[in-house]
Amino acid sequence: MRPSLLPAAALDIEHLKYLLPETPAFVYDEARIIHTLDRLDRVRKASGLRVLYSVKAFPFAGALRLIRSRVDGFSVSSLFEARLASEMVETIDRPHAKRSLHITTPGLRSSEIDEIATLCDFISFNSLEQFERLAPRVAGQASIGLRINPKLSFLRDSRYDPCRPHSKLGIPVEELTRTLDRSPTLTSRIAGLHFHTAFESSSLAPLKATIARIENLLGRFTNGLEWINLGGGYLFDNPNDLDELSELVTALIQRYDSNIYIEPGKAIVGRAGYLVASVVDRFERDGKAIAVLDTGVNHLPEVFEYQKVPPLAEHRPDGSFEYSLVGSTCLAGDVFGDYRFHAPLNLGDRVSFPNVGAYSLIKANRFNGYDLPAIFAADRQGQLKAMKHFGYDDYRKQWLPDEGSLATAPDRD
Ligand SMILES: *Cc1c(COP(=O)(O)O)cnc(C)c1O
Repeated sequence: MRPSLLPAAALDIEHLKYLLPETPAFVYDEARIIHTLDRLDRVRKASGLRVLYSVKAFPFAGALRLIRSRVDGFSVSSLFEARLASEMVETIDRPHAKRSLHITTPGLRSSEIDEIATLCDFISFNSLEQFERLAPRVAGQASIGLRINPKLSFLRDSRYDPCRPHSKLGIPVEELTRTLDRSPTLTSRIAGLHFHTAFESSSLAPLKATIARIENLLGRFTNGLEWINLGGGYLFDNPNDLDELSELVTALIQRYDSNIYIEPGKAIVGRAGYLVASVVDRFERDGKAIAVLDTGVNHLPEVFEYQKVPPLAEHRPDGSFEYSLVGSTCLAGDVFGDYRFHAPLNLGDRVSFPNVGAYSLIKANRFNGYDLPAIFAADRQGQLKAMKHFGYDDYRKQWLPDEGSLATAPDRD
């Protein structure tokens, strides 16, 4: 077997990047995605777990097509995600295979709920108010659940903590217990419970603690639940995680006789994605060598949001040439960080940021008029496939009014 056929191995991006016809380029590794889904598939078979892919991490239809036959469905956060995911489900080559679409969002709109109910077969309402207002309109069409908030924080940075004080995400379990005590018949209108409390967690401990807390507080109401959705936010990157997950799910299914779902996003696509960029300028400032790239933090917005230094495939800790890699835009803080190399960087040299498959392209923008990265897939033989190219037409379409063109639109004052 050639090394590129070994799915667990990381893509040889330092070789592959020079085969790309253009940069900046976003490359996703199909073998890596399939490898992760195969690992989860073993848990599905061993425990009965159902796996949904959380579309928002990377909604590219090329990837959805690859993922769809290896999961039990998709989880979505909006009407547009629901439409895109449902197109993927409908065109599936095995029409009778059961695939489901699950939605939860604080932003459910009354004007969209009818269409959402035709697309999604599971809706988890985010507040009791949302539930009372909109659930009657979807009854009989979608299975109705509630997103609960266990109020158990595992994150130090409250910006990413769904359980922070005053969180908008889910019904606080204690509030739900009080409501159920007052109106016990409510349970007959609820088929499932949903929660999502973790973010980039490398351990399943938060999940165990969350389940314990929910059972403790809601235990007497959980009989007869048809499904429980454990959310996403776990990376499953330790070999033991999947055994633990399998045990946990087996026990839950035994206790509640319910279907158990997880909906990972980053775990499936995160490590599969690379951003490749070229050096377009080089100079020294205040004693530091600067290399300007044909990308920027507008293509990896989490670098700026979290003020993180992203890993770089070419970084050599013992290299004697240090550069600050910066982006092309006018933003002074459009900086990736300082990296070391064995040789000086030259114009046209390419560098690659690994592990950026999730939450990068979907949040990317064309700030300063710089184009979005072209999208390439590396197939299981390690061959590159050009999947999508953006250009000036896309930029122009975005910024032109609906009617008229640059030449004919009348001036208004
Ligand atoms: C974002 C999100 C997910 C996926 O999270 P990952 O961190 O990508 O695994 C799943 N469920 C809900 C409700 C989410 O908001």
